[in-house]
Amino acid sequence: PPRIVWLRRDLRLADQPAFCAAAEQGPVIPVYVLDDQRAGDRRLGGASRWWLHGSLEALDKRLRDAGSRLVLRRGDSVEQLVSLAREAGASGIDAIRHYEHWWREAEEQLASQLELHLHDGNYLAPPGTATTGSGQPFKIYTPFARALMPLLPLRDPLPEPKLRAPSRWPQSDRLADWHLLPTKPDWAAGFREAWVPGEDEAQERLEHFVSHAKDYANARNMPSVDGSSRLSPRLHWGELSPTQVWHALEGEHGAGADTFRGEIVWRDYAQNVILQSPRYPEESYRDGFARFPWRDPAKDKAAAADLRAWQRGRTGYPIVDAGMRQLWTTGWMHNRVRMIAASFLIKHLLIDWRHGERWFWDTLVDADYANNGVNWQWVSGSGVDSSMFTRIMAPLSQSDKFDAGDYIREWVPELAALSDASIHDPDDEERPKAYPERRIGHREARERALAAYRKVRA
Ligand code: FAD
Repeated sequence: PPRIVWLRRDLRLADQPAFCAAAEQGPVIPVYVLDDQRAGDRRLGGASRWWLHGSLEALDKRLRDAGSRLVLRRGDSVEQLVSLAREAGASGIDAIRHYEHWWREAEEQLASQLELHLHDGNYLAPPGTATTGSGQPFKIYTPFARALMPLLPLRDPLPEPKLRAPSRWPQSDRLADWHLLPTKPDWAAGFREAWVPGEDEAQERLEHFVSHAKDYANARNMPSVDGSSRLSPRLHWGELSPTQVWHALEGEHGAGADTFRGEIVWRDYAQNVILQSPRYPEESYRDGFARFPWRDPAKDKAAAADLRAWQRGRTGYPIVDAGMRQLWTTGWMHNRVRMIAASFLIKHLLIDWRHGERWFWDTLVDADYANNGVNWQWVSGSGVDSSMFTRIMAPLSQSDKFDAGDYIREWVPELAALSDASIHDPDDEERPKAYPERRIGHREARERALAAYRKVRA
């Protein structure tokens, strides 16, 4: 009898333990279920849907080249898989384990109804592997990384399995009928220019990055330079496994590759946080933040206008606006600019980090429950990490320090004619009419934020 491989954020054939295990047992039926119910209000955002469409299309093509194909179903994952297993006479299901609470719940329910074999494959080590001397999970990154690093890599990447087709293919939806791509308005032109989803392109980008990894330690901080890997959507969707990335860097030593390994471990760390606090991205972790006097866009018109200006890239702070427009246009934002833009929303505009987290959830192609929630709480200082609230980033000096002039010219064309000296912080005379005034001055914002924070500490 055939085995079902249930795919979620693991859309690859190489180093895919669920495929390998299933292929050893019999013919394989690869299935993706579009489940908009289970995740509740964490259903996939618009940018994620765009990526998913391309990645499923690419995977189906790869599978067809290997004599297989992708079966698409829509609805509740558990119901769909149980009925598919019955229809296909499958002996059971292989899947890579996921840690989002809605997936863990689905896995439990599925396991009570049929034979479900879960495999580790999306992290360098299964979350929970690194523990303190007394066997407790780590709360903060540095000791976590220090404990995990010496254990890595746990294994080598697995080869692509040979897939046998079942005697009869179950019925499948048509991908186009899922309407994952935008139509009116078609906001994805910039996405198409920036990305080609799929495992082949993920591999190409990995190779390209490895050949530049030695420059990563410095280049990663410069928004005007293509200095980071841009592998985040690949890793999120599982077009690449972190084990493959680790392996590709074997033999690369020096600050670039070492710093990069540390970032990949951040991804494992975030999952380790979610394992301990499954709803971490939903609420401030530190109690005092319940008292924080956020400006609430639902009740305060000025706050609503500020939030909108931030989302649209019209805050009057060039580096923030460049980042928010890059995000809107391409579904991705440079990490340094993510930090600046997030800090700006939380501290300059005094808007609850959860509004920002939700915006990113909808607009990022790498929107990831763990990484997004952990990073937003890291910036807001409301999380498990050391308190960061009082570290209020000055957007203008950050922009200057990391030489973001060309980045601003690319994403805020109104400012393109300004010189290096004035582009980070144009004064009233230099500022073109089309570019908005600052929503709030830096010093004023800083004082307001620190005063608000006193309530948390009280
Ligand atoms: P590189 O610098 O090349 O890093 C390599 C890989 O390491 C990344 O692809 C990513 O998988 C991982 N990584 C790097 N930095 C981090 C980090 N701080 N936390 C966790 N993993 C990391 N990353 C996401 O993947 N999804 C998100 O939803 C997300 N939301 C974020 C929100 C905020 C407010 C901030 C400040 C950061 C967020 N990040 C998120 C982390 C980071 O910004 C992105 O992973 C990175 O910019 C992706 O670009 P890259 O692939 O070129 O990264």
